[in-house]
Amino acid sequence: MSEFDFDLFVIGAGSGGVRASRMAAGFGARVAVAEELYLGGTCVNVGCVPKKLFAYAAHFAEDVEDARGYGWDLKVESFNWQRLVENKNTEITRLNGIYHNLLTGAGVTLIHGRARLLDSHTVAVGDKRFTSERILLATGGWPFVPEFPGREHVITSNEVFYLEQLPARCAVVGGGYIAVEFASIFNGLGCQTSLLYRGEQFLRGFDQGLRDHMVVTMQNKGLDLQFNAQVERIDKQADGSLLLHLHNGETLETDLVLYATGRRPKLDGLGLENTAVTLDEKGFIAVDELYQTTDPAVFAIGDVTDTIQLTPVALAEGMALARRLYRPEEYRPVDYEDLATAVFCIPNIGTLGMTEEQARAQGYKLDIFESRFRPMRNTLAGNAEQSFMKLVVDQASDRVLGVHMVGPDAGEIIQGLAVALKAGATKSVFDATLGIHPTAAEEFVTMRTPSRRD
Ligand code: FAD
Repeated sequence: MSEFDFDLFVIGAGSGGVRASRMAAGFGARVAVAEELYLGGTCVNVGCVPKKLFAYAAHFAEDVEDARGYGWDLKVESFNWQRLVENKNTEITRLNGIYHNLLTGAGVTLIHGRARLLDSHTVAVGDKRFTSERILLATGGWPFVPEFPGREHVITSNEVFYLEQLPARCAVVGGGYIAVEFASIFNGLGCQTSLLYRGEQFLRGFDQGLRDHMVVTMQNKGLDLQFNAQVERIDKQADGSLLLHLHNGETLETDLVLYATGRRPKLDGLGLENTAVTLDEKGFIAVDELYQTTDPAVFAIGDVTDTIQLTPVALAEGMALARRLYRPEEYRPVDYEDLATAVFCIPNIGTLGMTEEQARAQGYKLDIFESRFRPMRNTLAGNAEQSFMKLVVDQASDRVLGVHMVGPDAGEIIQGLAVALKAGATKSVFDATLGIHPTAAEEFVTMRTPSRRD
């Protein structure tokens, strides 16, 4: 008999924690998972899932407009924000139930409450104490809002999914994918929307051609994009509206301010000081490539570590760790190369592998294939919006290093191409692939002449 209550005690039932718990229990380990807020974590409750549902909602206004050219005279009577939020809540509750059943069905002991480490093998949840041979920290991240006067007037992605009313005007502050997605969502739902970012241009780290295309596309949709804009102070006015004072002396009046200025690892009250766990220079839990912290009994995965902050990454890490600990013969390290990801703005962004800038920085000589075109659906719709596609190809090996797209269903299209890149596809393989006609995606296999060569 083990001297411990459990073999593995997981703190946090988010993407990574749930996957690690289920897998480890499936391999025969005695597993407990503690969760203080909601099963499924950020992704299910205040992240990927509700965000995508809102993005669907935001699309309908444009669809109704587009339908006119196809003969449909549709009239939008009204938009009911409360109904959207209620239906979203019902769906999330359903998913929470599925996660509950997945965990209990796998034999995982579910403990509700905030967990705190008492030492490397002991966790307290409320007035209960549990011992475990190993502990896994999968506590995720939390929105970060910088200090400034008027900070108390802003909301974050945690609150945006539960707003009681849709504001008439909205300002989104930030330049990452979450900021861009919410600016798109609010704009699509009919709010007068501004996006303010302190840097030169949003979506840092994405391909430059894609970023430039996105600026034009969003501006054409009526979004007010303000770059090099820093909020110094926010005043709440007598009528309840908010006045943003920018560092350049300008002001912006709005009804809601959403800060999407990054996330920090969730460590508060976790009791790390009672263990040998240390943080890295950025403040994440320091782990090695096997998710081992500096404490031999404690592991960490997902957003609480300095990894790529995406659900599939947390899932893969959870799976890899469970295998390594309890089914080592099946262990495979997570492959972080050629990662595909989407931004669910309108239209979508899909991106895979290296940007042109990254490839050049690594010394590749490149062929760049680029295409901008009006997707067929937009023709009868009388919609001038263009899609953007780009292939980054290594001249020496002919390998496709990066694939980038802005356009409807970009995420769906790029996911398929991710398999090709993982298999090492060259441009010749793309060329030898017959297209599906008529689709937008066929453009990826019909681009023949590089728009630029080194
Ligand atoms: P989380 O999912 O955050 O789970 C951590 C869990 O630990 C939480 O449930 C928390 O309550 C719990 N917890 C924390 N501390 C304690 C404690 N002391 N005791 C008990 N429980 C605790 N990723 C994508 O791949 N695609 C997307 O489209 C996407 N969209 C996003 C949109 C938004 C608005 C946000 C915020 C994130 C989005 N992400 C997206 C990122 C994705 O949600 C995260 O990368 C993922 O959830 C990380 O999983 P995790 O297991 O590390 O942490």
